[in-house]
Amino acid sequence: MEAAATITPAVLILLGPPGAGKGTQARMLEAEFGLVQLSTGDLLRAAVAAGTEAGKAAKAVMEAGELVSDEIVIAILRDRLAEPDCAKGVILDGFPRTTIQAQALDQLLSETGQKISAAISLEVDDAEMVTRISGRYTCSMCGEGYHDTFKAPVIEGTCDKCGHAEFTRRADDNAETVASRLAAYHEQTAPLISYYQDHGVLKGLNAMGNIEEIAGNLKGIVSNAMN
Ligand SMILES: [Zn+2]
Repeated sequence: MEAAATITPAVLILLGPPGAGKGTQARMLEAEFGLVQLSTGDLLRAAVAAGTEAGKAAKAVMEAGELVSDEIVIAILRDRLAEPDCAKGVILDGFPRTTIQAQALDQLLSETGQKISAAISLEVDDAEMVTRISGRYTCSMCGEGYHDTFKAPVIEGTCDKCGHAEFTRRADDNAETVASRLAAYHEQTAPLISYYQDHGVLKGLNAMGNIEEIAGNLKGIVSNAMN
């Protein structure tokens, strides 16, 4: 009998602007492929709580009110990738943010015998995103969600669920803020998109369809990338 091939854990990078459904799709990938989503914030908190060497270094820097260096984040990631729950692979969320970090990550992966399986960019239509996000509001009593264009209450100005007549809009969901958030995202992400394109691992995914359709396409990309 042949020995089972050693499976190299997949490393996926998920890029997408706020409101593109990155969290939902990442959870789907975790469930479907046994991957673990790693966000920089969670990584730092866990390392600090566990009191690892890198965690102690991060704690000292954060307590001094300074930004945690790329070196420390990479050290924490190195420790985390070695844990058993990452055996099938990970989805990186929020790291890398710069090409310097992307290079440091490639260096780390070359040491662990891994490589980027795919950098998946959730592609959105900015104007459509502004409409979607800036139209949202909720009932201030029961929290039921509504939308100017897509889901108005049956009786104008009255919550379908509880009959309340007051609604709340998040201040940062106005059109101007959403547009500038998207612009900042594109500006920050463009160099990374080029970087991963140059390395032949960039996969674009239209993130404007319905959730099931996007999930289906994403599964296809990840399934290919993991083989
Ligand atoms: Zn209500």
